[in-house]
Amino acid sequence: MRKLLFAPIYFFMLQPANAQEIREFMDLQSHMTVHIPYGFFGKGLTYFSNDDPPKSSYKHTFTNVNHANFLENNQGARIIINGALSKEWVTSKKKARRVIIEQIDYVNDFISNHSDKFALAKTPQEVRDLVANTNKTIVIHSIEGGRRLINSQEDANFWASQGIAFITLVHLLDDENGASAITPGLMTGLINAKGGFRKEKNRRLTEHGKQAIQYLANAGIMTDISHMSELTRKDALDYMFEHNIPPISTHDGFQPIQNSPRGISAEDIIRIYQHNGFVSLPLSGGALKPHKSFPVYQKMLDSLSRLDCYCEGSIDDYKFTYQVVKQFIENNAALIAKDSTVVFAELNDSQKVKYSIGFQTDFNGWLNHNRPRYGKDGCYELAADREYDEIELKGLAHPGLLNAHWNLLIREGVDLEPIKRSSEKFLQLWQYFLDHRRVEN
Ligand SMILES: [Zn+2]
Ligand SMILES: [Zn+2]
Repeated sequence: MRKLLFAPIYFFMLQPANAQEIREFMDLQSHMTVHIPYGFFGKGLTYFSNDDPPKSSYKHTFTNVNHANFLENNQGARIIINGALSKEWVTSKKKARRVIIEQIDYVNDFISNHSDKFALAKTPQEVRDLVANTNKTIVIHSIEGGRRLINSQEDANFWASQGIAFITLVHLLDDENGASAITPGLMTGLINAKGGFRKEKNRRLTEHGKQAIQYLANAGIMTDISHMSELTRKDALDYMFEHNIPPISTHDGFQPIQNSPRGISAEDIIRIYQHNGFVSLPLSGGALKPHKSFPVYQKMLDSLSRLDCYCEGSIDDYKFTYQVVKQFIENNAALIAKDSTVVFAELNDSQKVKYSIGFQTDFNGWLNHNRPRYGKDGCYELAADREYDEIELKGLAHPGLLNAHWNLLIREGVDLEPIKRSSEKFLQLWQYFLDHRRVEN
């Protein structure tokens, strides 16, 4: 009798993962509408004729690569979060809002005109239903740059009503919310000249910034801490941990390898996961270029280079950083779970979702992507007796090559499961925010 009673329960426990869970490649941020805040940029979400494809190169800083052709039926980015971009120097609240709404409307209009290939999701459940029942590319809205956009609870509620899943609070300029990381190289220093003149110790999250994080959480919107200066990030994490608001970072680096203000420390990575958040890595070689790496990683990079297994600026920067971050998180699973008996390898696939790592392409984000490893733009000469894939010869020239990018890593033995699990992690977290809304009617 007892045996019979237990049988169904046991069967249920043996199920490998919740049947509802998803495992898709989900791009945590791409920019399809840069032409709206910056008119000189080519229009995203347009189709080219197959007889006349655009020239493609990984050097595409000022060129639109988010052609609709590349985004439909794309297994390498089944779900894409479009980051509407704020205007960096906007001063009027009205104008700031208008620029974002125009981008949201542009994407929504495109999707309704191409509903055979694309679908919009405004809730985690809509994403799940679309994954289960269609082959469409699923688009979610986010905003990069909170400048002038979150001034009251009503503002945050408004963005939630538009289906915004998260806002990257700080972008390239210091503003009313906090300070922006000034990274090695000229670009961010030039754009944020004012920030560069301020004393680092004064470059904090402001009261307005704290309030914005709270308004967003109340409305069910996540805060992305990417781009924050070190002390602004510290303040944001402290505030979020104190108020049970899980943080996400969509495209910062790992300080032991990218030892610049955009690198998150090992300790903070642990704390982010302890508080139910997660991190995601940018895909472009430039963003993950090693900088003053800790000796242990510099040694690894040097020995890989000697073996011709590391080509700076290529997919190798991503491959190296991803694998280090993955190992770091998995080795610290017990610390993250605050349970000394936890061993990552012994967890089931559902339990592993907590330790996911996302990715962010930032296509059309004013940057180049990975250069190729081989040929004139690469590190190594072409061998006559070997065939090469397009991704190996061109690098990551456009989003249509994402699936090839993942397949190349798989062929080289890289475990991408944490990346696929991150789609589930993201939906669970988004749902958590929606379930914990504190919006009074
Ligand atoms: Zn960014
Ligand atoms: Zn961006």
